[in-house]
Amino acid sequence: MIDLRSDTVTRPTAAMRKFIAEAEVGDDMIDVDPTVERLEKLTAELLGKEAAIFMPSGSMTNQIAIRLHCDRGCEFICDSNSHVYNYEQAAFAQLSGIVARTVDSRHGVIEPEQMDGLIRPINLHFVRTRLVCLENTHNRAGGRIFPQDKVERICRWAHENGLRTHVDGARLWNAAAATGKSVAELSEPFDSVSVCYSKGLGAPVGSGLAGTREFIAEARRARKLFGGAMRQAGMIAAGALYALLHHRERLVEDHEHARRIGDTVARCEPLSVIGGEVETNIVAVAVDPSWGTAAQFADSLRGGGVDSFVIGPQSIRLVTHLDLSSGRIDEACEIIRRVADGVPRASGSATQGGYGTATLPPAVASS
Ligand SMILES: *Cc1c(COP(=O)(O)O)cnc(C)c1O
Repeated sequence: MIDLRSDTVTRPTAAMRKFIAEAEVGDDMIDVDPTVERLEKLTAELLGKEAAIFMPSGSMTNQIAIRLHCDRGCEFICDSNSHVYNYEQAAFAQLSGIVARTVDSRHGVIEPEQMDGLIRPINLHFVRTRLVCLENTHNRAGGRIFPQDKVERICRWAHENGLRTHVDGARLWNAAAATGKSVAELSEPFDSVSVCYSKGLGAPVGSGLAGTREFIAEARRARKLFGGAMRQAGMIAAGALYALLHHRERLVEDHEHARRIGDTVARCEPLSVIGGEVETNIVAVAVDPSWGTAAQFADSLRGGGVDSFVIGPQSIRLVTHLDLSSGRIDEACEIIRRVADGVPRASGSATQGGYGTATLPPAVASS
């Protein structure tokens, strides 16, 4: 099976496993784990922030950042199609008493003008607006890079109006590899940044949150509250450290692979690339209803040997990663072509993506 469901499916390489086996560890809650400490230092340095903290997941780094930037009963602004809003069980509401105000992005990009009038006046009736949260690259919009000039304009507007800014940079590494900008440059306009080690970088577990020293000290307290403080966490931090040291530059290969898949998709009659262009390692694909449903398409792909995620009634996504060689991508393209030229498999038992489709808006159709 060629697994194009997600870049989270990668397994640690032999060299990474060796690095993990040899990692120095300590009790990170009693004193420090030296490998975790090394990872946190390197993460802060790369992101150009004073400090960083290692956490078990990207959901935790995002939710702790939102919690710290907003008080209970406050509001933050985010994209209605974002990960923090759709895929984290609204933990900001469940765990922190915070509400979200959503803006509809176009292909993952919010125009600075859309922010006009979103800050609530201060009076007895309203919640208080505290934070803007952006996503780069954008997951549901097919790995879209948020243009840096727009990031800068939105963050300047936020800061001028007394708001904080956070970026969900689960795949900020991909944005950096694709644009040639450093992750520090991409992070600069934001007060806090979360990044994943377990996506394109190929580490088995973990995410990082970066910001000021004071902010990260508070995040350390919140991590304990959320049940995310760990002991000999160097065992997993080592995988992340190895990934940071060795797997960042190769991300351009995944992007080239995704572009090849995108080209194949664009040439298949019933298919189109959502957003029109592949920018990083995710290809969001619209399936024309004349062929069948996205679930039927995913089913047929699976029958041919390609695993994908259904992300909407008429859309699937295909994600390239470390475990897929150029040859495997060629095979996948061939299978996609064959399925698109054929008819839906009779079964129609949906290969439902881990994300499901029921309550989400459809990914924006190609223009
Ligand atoms: C994967 C991802 C996260 C974090 O997910 P976890 O599974 O909690 O690590 C956050 N934001 C985006 C955009 C993601 O793709």
